[in-house]
Parts: sequence; C-alpha cells; structure tokens
Amino acid sequence: MPLRLYNTLTRTIEPFTPADPARVTFYTCGLTVYDDGHIGNFRSFLAADLLRRWIQSPLCSLTNPDASLHQGPRQVLHVMNITDVGHMTDDQAADGQGQDKMAIAGQRIIEATKSGKLPHGADVDPADPYAIARFFTERFIQDASRLGLNVAIEAQRDPSLMPRATDNIHGMIAFIAALIDRQHAYITGTPGSRAVYFDVQSFPSYGQLSGNTLDNLRGGAGGRVLEQNQADKKHPADFLLWKEDPTHVMKWPSPWGQGYPGWHIECSVMALARLIPGGLDQALAAPAGTIEIDLHSGGEDNIFPHHECERAQSCAIIGGQRFSRFWFHPRFLLVEGEKMSKSKGNFFTARDLFAQGIEPAALRLELIKTHYRTNANFSMQGLRDADRIVERWRRFRDQARTNAPDSPANATARDHARQSFTAALDNDLNTPEAIAAINQWVSATAAPSQPDADLMDSFDAVLAVLDRPRLERQSAGNIIFMPGAATDDAVVALIHDRAAAKKARDFARADAIRTDLLARGYAIKDVAGGAVEVARAD
Ligand SMILES: [Zn+2]
Repeated sequence: MPLRLYNTLTRTIEPFTPADPARVTFYTCGLTVYDDGHIGNFRSFLAADLLRRWIQSPLCSLTNPDASLHQGPRQVLHVMNITDVGHMTDDQAADGQGQDKMAIAGQRIIEATKSGKLPHGADVDPADPYAIARFFTERFIQDASRLGLNVAIEAQRDPSLMPRATDNIHGMIAFIAALIDRQHAYITGTPGSRAVYFDVQSFPSYGQLSGNTLDNLRGGAGGRVLEQNQADKKHPADFLLWKEDPTHVMKWPSPWGQGYPGWHIECSVMALARLIPGGLDQALAAPAGTIEIDLHSGGEDNIFPHHECERAQSCAIIGGQRFSRFWFHPRFLLVEGEKMSKSKGNFFTARDLFAQGIEPAALRLELIKTHYRTNANFSMQGLRDADRIVERWRRFRDQARTNAPDSPANATARDHARQSFTAALDNDLNTPEAIAAINQWVSATAAPSQPDADLMDSFDAVLAVLDRPRLERQSAGNIIFMPGAATDDAVVALIHDRAAAKKARDFARADAIRTDLLARGYAIKDVAGGAVEVARAD
C-alpha cells in the first residue's frame, strides 16, 4: 500500500500524491533565530525530516497523479527557511504589534553579558541584529546536523536550501506589489506611518485550513487588535504585509516607505522562489492554477495564523485553493507530562542536552518515537530507553556484519520486518509501530547475518539514528558517564576516593561517598572490569 498521510487542509488521511513523485517539493517553516532551537522545535523539524527520508526510501511507494504506483527512485527538494526579521512577539494577532524578536534577542544578550551567562564562544554585538541572527543560525545548523536533519546537512553545501528572510526582501516587495495590483491588498495610513494589509475578504476560503470562518474571526478579534489599526482595516483579520517604520531595528526602502515585512509573507516568497522552477518571477507570471508545491510543514501553532495567511496570499497570486497539496503539522511536545516553559524549569534546548552528555542518536529517537499527530511526552527515562534501543540496534548490526551464514529463518524474519516497517510508515508515518517492528525482528534473530545488516541500514536511512556522530565518550579512566550525567571533576575525585576506600576495606567510607554522590544527583554502579558507571539520579 502506498504512503497515506493526514492532510490538515482536508482533515483526512489521503494517498500522498505529489504532482511529480520523482521530484517532491517540500517547504518547512524553520526557526526564528533569536534563540537556540528547543526540543519542541526539533520534534517538529525531525518529523518533517522523517517524512522526507521515508519518501526517499526505496521501501516507500507513492501514488502517481493517475492513481498508479510510483516505486521510485525519487528526490525531495526540501527547503527550510530561517526567520531573521519581522517575527513580532504579538504575531498571533493580525497587526504585527509588539517587539521584533530579533530586538529581544539583543536585549537578552546584553543581560547575559552583564550577568556573565553569555553562551560559550559568543562574541556577538547585541546592537547588530544581523550578527545575532548569524550567531543563532550557525548554532542551529550545528544542532540540526547533529540530529540528522538532512536539510541542514545539505544546506552546508547549498545554503539556498535554508534561505534567510533578510536575503529575500526584494522578492517580498515584488510579491506585495502584485497583491496590491490584483486587489488582494491595500495601503493604509499616511507617509511616515503607512501599512499594507492583506484583504482577507478578497479570498473567500480564508479560514479553511484552520477551521475558522471570517465571521467568527471578526467576532473573536476583540481585544487583540489595536483600536487605531482596527479603524484602518477593512476586516479585523486583515493581516500585515508591510509596516512603514523608520525607527525599526531592521528596515528597508519600499514603495510604502522605509520599514519591514510582515512575518507571513516571507514564507510564501521563499517557498515559491526556491521550489518552483523559474523561481518567484515565474510564480508571479504563471497562469492561475498552474503552480503548487507538494508539501508544507510547521508546528501545530503555525496552522493559524501563519499558514492560513501564507495560503491566502499565495493562492491570491498563483490561483487555486491549496498553495501546497499537503499540509503536515506535528503536535506539541510535552516534557514529563507538562507543557514546556522556562518558568517551570522543564525547558530544554538540544544544546543543553548535548552538554549534559545526551547522545544525538538518543535524542533523535526520543523525539521521533511517538506518532507525530499525538502529543509526545519527552522524559529523561524515555531518553535512557532510547539510548538503550540505539545501542541494541548497533550491536545487532555489528554482529550481523560478521558474515555468519544466513538462514531460512532469518530470511523469513526479515521479510516480516520489512513488511511491518513499511506498512507502519505508509500508514500516516506510524513511527511507534515501525520501531516495534525492528525490535521484534531483532529479538527474533539470534544469529544475524550480512543481509540483516543491510536491512538495518535501509531502516536506518529513514530513522537516522545508528550513524549519528557520537559525543566524545564521556569517560575519565574507568569512570563512564552515562547519557544525561555531565562529566564533573568533583565526582571523578569522589569516585577515586571511593575506590581507595574499598581497596583499604573501609566500606563505611565507600558507602558514605555513594550517599554523597546521590545527594549531588549522581547514581553510581560498579560494572565489569572494575569500571564505574555514573548516571543521573532521578
Ligand atoms: Zn513560515
């Protein structure tokens, strides 16, 4: 059975039918680079990466537009933008009010410098939003590459796959001018404080992606929209395309004065510019209804207003009602059962976890192991389990590479595993079932051989955990720091003291050190060969 996928736009699971299955076009809304990517961001990005890897897998089949099967090979042109301007703190409202997130990043860097908490290696001018964006973009690409996000790995060779909003202002201005020209946008205000808004009433299906109607958006807009702007707008849901503001932290000349673009416009422009043959010029000139992309993803919080607005303004230019054939939205990540927040202390960036010794492979598996349309619950226990699963699969593959003779029983187990894995991912990307299929197969194959290693490789081309770069082994002599337990000199010293105490048969002292370590958050275990494993105690 070919891949079937849930489409947010139609609210049904449908056969995934790209315009040309040999060359699938995919746009993912990327990070606003005013901070490091957190694990909630990465859950969404890795779900998109998994989908992209599955579409490219020889195990996956797709449906051609004429309903026949497409067996591959195929390429996925995957683009993920970097938002480095125009994302305001109040962007859930339609006016683009609040502060630019890049300006906030500058303030945070000033505070971090004062308190001595500036991230290691940070030498960035807080008054220069371009420098801040470059700083966090580089860190994001490092983190994402460690986690196996293919688009970030590819972008190191071809940066055009991760376009920056600030490099596309010219295209946004051309796009806004076309919207005004075609009566989908209008200018308000007087020189010095002009704004350009999208006219939602000019696109009657506005709201279809998010399940809103123009009427309930009118009713629900009270309080979110400034009175003064409200009076200028034709409808409360009309959203900002350009804001004239000569005082803004980042600004460009435009036909509507010096200012900055709205957040939504950047993604329409970058998606069409990079994914459509002929780029933005072709998209602006093409006959209505002849251009679409195949896939568009983002976190569920992007559905409204961001993707609703993107769809409206894009369709206003290219025609049709979809902009993207499929809209893919992974659900939120919870941490230990709770919503992640800085105030609760359960907020993690990928970088935080690597610094604690968490292996990228374990973090990736933990973030992809739950079905993307359910809330994943990230936990330290889950990370440890993920780490064990990765180790088990690695051992299995290593054993399989020893070229033991193959057996009919192995071949039967492989066929079953291949079918179960494929059926699971074809069924709306059911990763928990796909992982269970591998675990069952590994358990059922006591003496794996080379064809088993090959099959594991083809599974791992999709899950992408076995060959993730490993953190430098966190060990000091025969002391092994397990994932989650950061290397600590004081701990190392105490463990040496404990070894000396045991040697002197001072077991009371050895026990006291164990208790002391526990109080510091470290659980220790004596393992084979006189080594000591150190894990986080929780
Ligand atoms: Zn976007």
